[in-house]
Amino acid sequence: MPNPLYDHLVAPLATRSSTFLTDARGKEISGKNLHDTAMSLAAALTGLGLKSGDRMAVQVEKTPEALALYCAAIATGIVFLPLNTAYTAAEVEYFVSDAGASLLVGDPAKAEMLSPIAQRNGAQFETLDADGEGSLRNRARVAGTKFAPVTRSGDDLAAILYTSGTTGRSKGAMLSHENLLSNARVLADEWRFDENDVLLHALPIFHTHGLFVASNVVMLSGGSMIFLPGFKTDEMLKWLPRATTMMGVPTFYTRLLDTPTFTGELTRHMRLFTSGSAPLLAETHQRFEARTGHRILERYGMTETNMNTSNPYDGERRAGTVGLPLPGVEVKITDPESGEVVQQGEPGVIEVRGPNVFKGYWRMPEKTREELRENGFFITGDIGTIDADGYVSIIGRQKDLIITGGYNVYPKEIELILDEQPGILESAVVGVPHPDFGEAVIAVLVARPGETIDTAAVAAAMGERLARFKQPKHVAVVADLPRNTMGKVQKNLLRQQFVSLFA
Ligand code: AMP
Repeated sequence: MPNPLYDHLVAPLATRSSTFLTDARGKEISGKNLHDTAMSLAAALTGLGLKSGDRMAVQVEKTPEALALYCAAIATGIVFLPLNTAYTAAEVEYFVSDAGASLLVGDPAKAEMLSPIAQRNGAQFETLDADGEGSLRNRARVAGTKFAPVTRSGDDLAAILYTSGTTGRSKGAMLSHENLLSNARVLADEWRFDENDVLLHALPIFHTHGLFVASNVVMLSGGSMIFLPGFKTDEMLKWLPRATTMMGVPTFYTRLLDTPTFTGELTRHMRLFTSGSAPLLAETHQRFEARTGHRILERYGMTETNMNTSNPYDGERRAGTVGLPLPGVEVKITDPESGEVVQQGEPGVIEVRGPNVFKGYWRMPEKTREELRENGFFITGDIGTIDADGYVSIIGRQKDLIITGGYNVYPKEIELILDEQPGILESAVVGVPHPDFGEAVIAVLVARPGETIDTAAVAAAMGERLARFKQPKHVAVVADLPRNTMGKVQKNLLRQQFVSLFA
């Protein structure tokens, strides 16, 4: 009886006596052990009355048992709905209610907050803590490890992942077995993953990067993972010698580079470093290569589409680009107004089509129609270009586009120039309300450690390099840019901070 994700990702663990996961304490967990845990959790979930198609919201710490719970959802056909551990009560309530979840699994330490939410929304509540213990685990122990996975087709839903929703309501992206399996296959193949790989895994597993890109690829290829609860530089340095590959967000790389004891020697045996979820500065790429000799492989994807493009494993990995469309994925750049393909090299909205593209937004048919065309192309909302060799570059998000005095300004163009100026570590350009221009361009800068920024010199340099309408009308220096857990700069917070600048 087929169940695509179970058959290819989970079933192979059942007969594997070798290590599949090593946790932060050095405890080794075999494939069989994880499979047994997953099956006992599956039995516990059906014991609670959950059936395939029901939604299970999960807000728990990253543990091997949490990964086993994902595997249990696959085996039972229950739709997995992982939630950021930072979400507040109000946020969790929105997801539980919007998804119509039948079960909420949470940390027992948050039971007082979570249990009433479950109750109000007609869901059951079970716990799983940072040691993989709790009421659900207790039920699993009693339920035993015998479980027959349910039949699923490629089109059946495996997960709903809510988008980070920096503007408006967060939307639930419906991901099918085929969406996830096709992407895991392509990535494992493109990045040459096999059973000898040991992935240093420090990403959260409530997000597409850590759950699907990292965990699915390793499960599919028969490799293993060093499964750390989060990124801590000293832990990374400690475990690097045992790994062959690492997947990270750009902040992982900048933090490692800021650590003098992170040496090339520590990475000599490594096969691959990848980056995604937020833009990797070309400068970080170059510094990493200078320190280690490794060229980070940058790729691009999103919750709704899984991965779309990747720099090549063997060919040229171009800093500042997100590489070429993955096999089976079509990418085109279109005019935001007309939807027509723009001239080669021109900026426009990135649209993608392929087996990786989601089934639509949960209970939001109108939003789905707005963003997912009938011909299967998904309008990503990212603005990008494709160069003559087919490499895709991301310039920014459509909603970040600044329209000032009727002119379109892409923040990335200005940020790239700012980042070259003396004393500037990084920058963010945003638009804020302006009485004359509608929006005004402003630049928010962070200084390199121990250096100061000469804002007058920056303004002068901008005057030489950019048309007047693109020049920042205000330059602010801050200690840090606000970032979310995936390392993305939260421009909405910056816009809020400077909203009254020209009022
Ligand atoms: P999420 O759905 O949280 O994975 O966020 C997806 C968004 O992250 C994309 O639409 C892009 O805006 C951004 N993103 C992902 N990978 C990259 C990358 N390599 N470079 C720049 N932006 C990226």
